[in-house]
Amino acid sequence: MPKSGNTLKQKRKVPGKGPMKSNVNERDEYIEEVIKRIKKVIPPGKFKHRDPYHVLISTILSQRSKDEKTAIASKQLFDVYDTPEALATGDLKKIQKLIAPAGLYEAKAKNIRKVAKILVEEYNSKVPRDLDEMVNLPGVGRKTANCVLVYGFNEPAIPVDTHVHRISNRLGWVKTKMPEQTETELAKFLPRKYWIDINELLVRFGQEVCRPVGPRCPACTLNDICPTGIERLMK
Ligand code: SF4
Repeated sequence: MPKSGNTLKQKRKVPGKGPMKSNVNERDEYIEEVIKRIKKVIPPGKFKHRDPYHVLISTILSQRSKDEKTAIASKQLFDVYDTPEALATGDLKKIQKLIAPAGLYEAKAKNIRKVAKILVEEYNSKVPRDLDEMVNLPGVGRKTANCVLVYGFNEPAIPVDTHVHRISNRLGWVKTKMPEQTETELAKFLPRKYWIDINELLVRFGQEVCRPVGPRCPACTLNDICPTGIERLMK
């Protein structure tokens, strides 16, 4: 059963769909309500903001890796190679060994050492504060670059991973097939003031509540205003 107060028999508007989309005030109020409710369950601040070099390298290591494994690999790597200069001249086999817990270590070691070399040679050992320049670095896609903007530079951006993509679609905020489309559509839909927090909120909400398989709709705080939840609970 949905949480108390969420009466499914009530006729509900399905936010983000139909007329709601054309009414900016109603849409903004609805987004604010969704964010407020998620923040109650998932208070943001667990994902730490760090210096851009560490965010960039850790995010490359995190590709297709579990958070705990990425954390181990990152720590082992930074204990030895804590700067772009050190990593750029690091021994490839040693780098592979240090990052092995994160998986795909041969390709990742090659990429992160190349990235470090480019940072040293072309950017004065700094990470460029620019998405287009970052995506030219080996192993860096839009999600990684957006993570660096948010968690490294504290700049509003929308890193879209599978959680952000899935939940935005379930909530009816976007109707997209690919994460890249989701980023573009979310940037239009979501007021900029929410961009900094949205990745952490939806990633953690996706791990704990709106899971890929078996979302916990009956217990979800959004089950009276989420079109997918409403549909699932009506069945
Ligand atoms: S109601 Fe269900 S589908 Fe909607 S956000 Fe909650 S868990 Fe996800």
